[in-house]
Amino acid sequence: MPKGLVIVDKERCKGCGLCIEACPFGVLDFSSEYNASGYRVVHMAHPEKCTGCAVCANVCPDVALEIYREESSVRGAA
Ligand code: SF4
Ligand code: SF4
Repeated sequence: MPKGLVIVDKERCKGCGLCIEACPFGVLDFSSEYNASGYRVVHMAHPEKCTGCAVCANVCPDVALEIYREESSVRGAA
């Protein structure tokens, strides 16, 4: 299972929540943090569930999300 990392550009995020709705794995949620424009920004509430599928980045109207994906080489216990 690939593992993903989402980097949020906090100053670009407008807190619309589209990425939260779009993520098939429930990774994203609003954080307790507000940006300089007064919007509550998203963060990875459950980073361990992220596969790096980039669905969230594709729906973000403000291009606030950057995705990194790492293919796992672990296939089972050695
Ligand atoms: S990359 Fe995919 S799994 Fe990770 S937060 Fe975005 S939509 Fe969810
Ligand atoms: S879709 Fe983009 S602008 Fe909207 S909450 Fe997510 S990161 Fe922020």
